[in-house]
Amino acid sequence: MLDVLIIGAGPCGLSAAIECSKRGLSAEIIDKHNIVHSIYLYPTHMQFFSTAEMLEIGDIPFTISNDKPYRDEALAYYRKVAEHYKINISPYEEATSINKLPDGSFKVLTRKRSGVESYREAKNVVISTGYFDHPNYIGIPGEDLDKVTHYFREAHPYAGMKTAIIGGSNSAVDAAMELIRVGADVTMIYRRKEISENIKPWVRPIFEAMVNKGRIKLYLESNVTEIRENSITIKSNNGSEQLIDNDFVLALTGFRPDRKLLASSGVELDEEMEKPRFNPDTMETTVPGLYVAGVISSGRNANEIFIETGRFHGRLIAEHLVNKA
Ligand code: FAD
Repeated sequence: MLDVLIIGAGPCGLSAAIECSKRGLSAEIIDKHNIVHSIYLYPTHMQFFSTAEMLEIGDIPFTISNDKPYRDEALAYYRKVAEHYKINISPYEEATSINKLPDGSFKVLTRKRSGVESYREAKNVVISTGYFDHPNYIGIPGEDLDKVTHYFREAHPYAGMKTAIIGGSNSAVDAAMELIRVGADVTMIYRRKEISENIKPWVRPIFEAMVNKGRIKLYLESNVTEIRENSITIKSNNGSEQLIDNDFVLALTGFRPDRKLLASSGVELDEEMEKPRFNPDTMETTVPGLYVAGVISSGRNANEIFIETGRFHGRLIAEHLVNKA
């Protein structure tokens, strides 16, 4: 029987597989898409805020000519690392539930892309399913219109179009900067007093200059309350309301994980933050033999863990498994 089944081939799941294999444990990863699918979903031309070194796994150098890699460089890097370590990966196979058997091992039910149901048995399971499963819906009328997207990929479709961006994080700011470069008419609406303090420091001054020049119309302490085919309604916290012309809406309001799999395994969740309970020294949850790695181990605040930090979870897990054995 397999020593460890890892669910999710993101950077943190890959790292867990490498660390386990290095210590002689048999490990397999299943992913409902292909490897590092979350990075694949990033905007096409996105540059990481982390340096390449901070994204390395398995002691394989991430060498690029810039300081900070672009999305396609990271995709190539993680593909190469997986190939280098000959990680046993089954892509396009989704874990649907995790069941603990009387002997302490696990039976994980899976569904392949073809719809065929299957299962895996393993002595231990690592859940590293990330947090990009569902966008955070705002819940306003018109959010389901075709002109609204929660995933920004490239600016081209918005050239010359009146485009509203809802949000004030790095994703929203990066999208706004790309959109003005293709000649979109950009309005950004954010509910807080200031845009996020985590904006990449090399992007912030250029963004602020674009706002000051009026190239980006920024509404702070405001919310979009309705989206229609040709307009949106913006309501400010002081109660004033404006109807503005609009062609497209990018609702970049973040994501939340699907916790169904975690819940099926019987792991205790912290009710307030929906955070799984686990030992931070070993990453083992309240179910013996069941571990969490990467951003799924954080609560609703996904910024608590990212690749820079989650890449070390695999080592803790592998060491614990070896010591247990
Ligand atoms: P993920 O990378 O999300 O991988 C989870 C995997 O699990 C996916 O491949 C998914 O398909 C699979 N999966 C999900 N459910 C199932 C299931 N039921 N069965 C099987 N497989 C499943 N972090 C940094 O450190 N530096 C940065 O510069 C940075 N920039 C970012 C920029 C953007 C635009 C975004 C959105 C995020 C950024 N992050 C950055 C955060 C980083 O992407 C995440 O922290 C990281 O992807 C988490 O890795 P993970 O392995 O935990 O999960």
